[in-house]
Amino acid sequence: VTTPEADLGTLEPVAEGVWAWVQPDGSWWVSNAGLIAGSAGDVIFDTCATERRTTAFLRAVSSVRGSLDVRYAVNSHLHGDHTYGNSLLPASTVLVGHEQMREGLARDGIIDGCPPYWSPVPDWGAVTKRLPDLTVPDSARLHSGDRCIELRHPGWAAHTSGDVVAWVPDVGVLFTGDLLFHAVTPLIFMGSLRGAVRCLDWLASFGATHVVPGHGRPIPGSELDRVLDDHRRYYALVERTAMEAIRRGLAPLEAAREVELGEFADRPDAERIVLNLHRALAELDGRPFDLHAALADAVAYHGGPLPTRV
Ligand SMILES: [Zn+2]
Repeated sequence: VTTPEADLGTLEPVAEGVWAWVQPDGSWWVSNAGLIAGSAGDVIFDTCATERRTTAFLRAVSSVRGSLDVRYAVNSHLHGDHTYGNSLLPASTVLVGHEQMREGLARDGIIDGCPPYWSPVPDWGAVTKRLPDLTVPDSARLHSGDRCIELRHPGWAAHTSGDVVAWVPDVGVLFTGDLLFHAVTPLIFMGSLRGAVRCLDWLASFGATHVVPGHGRPIPGSELDRVLDDHRRYYALVERTAMEAIRRGLAPLEAAREVELGEFADRPDAERIVLNLHRALAELDGRPFDLHAALADAVAYHGGPLPTRV
C-alpha cells in the first residue's frame, strides 16, 4: 500500500513561527518532525524515514517559509524515522545531535538494507547516512535572530541513550521526540525503562503550552498530564510483567504472550510489549540484550512482519 502524496503529512501551526510536521498514523517508521522559524535562518527538528516523506516535509517547509533556509537541523535521537532523511537537507545546514545519537547512527545498518521485520519492507529511497556536524553532550542553545531554542538531554537513557528535546521558551513549545508517543504504544527497547519513567516528571517540568510528541497528534499543554499518566501506567505494566517473568523464569516472548494489555491492547504497535520486556529484563534481571532477537520475537508475537505505511 503506497500512501498518496497528500496523506503523507501536514505542516500544522503550533504557535507563532512554530509548526509540527505530523504524519498519520504515527505507527512504525511514521514519525513527527518540526519547524521553528528564525529571522537568521530556520531550525528543523528531525527528518523522516524515506526520501519521499522527507521531500514532502521539506517542500511544505519551503512553502510556508517562502524558501528552504535551514540553518540548523536537530536529530532527537538515532532512529531512522527521525534521521534517514538528513542527507536531503542543504549541505549548508548544520546538523546537531547528542554525542551518543551520533555514535548510534554511525553504527546503524538498517539504512543500507532493512531486515524483513516490517511489511512492506521499507524502501528508504535515495538517502544516505548523514551524521551530526555538532554534538551536544548535555545541553546547548541555538540562536537565530531574536529566537533561542534550548536543546536538552535528560541526563540518562530513556527512549535511547542519546535523546534530545527542543524547547522554544518564547512560545512554550516542547518537541519531545520519542520520549512521548501519543496514543501509540511507547518503545524503550533501545533505552531504559526506569529512565523513561523518570523522564515523565522531567518533561512536565518545562511547563509547556504545546507539546509535539515523536509519534501521534500534538498535545495541548492542558492534556499533557493525562498523556504522561498514560505512559506511567504503561511502563508500570511493563515493569510488573518483567518482575513476574523474573519470578517464574519466563522469556520475554512467553511473558508477553501471557500478559493482558488491557487498555493498551488496541493501541497501534501493541507488539512493542515484547521489545520493551527484552529491555526491562536486561535492566532488571541482567539478561543480555540482543536487538535482532527482540525484533524477531516481536514478529513472532504479532504473527508476521509488523505493519508499516512508510
Ligand atoms: Zn525512536
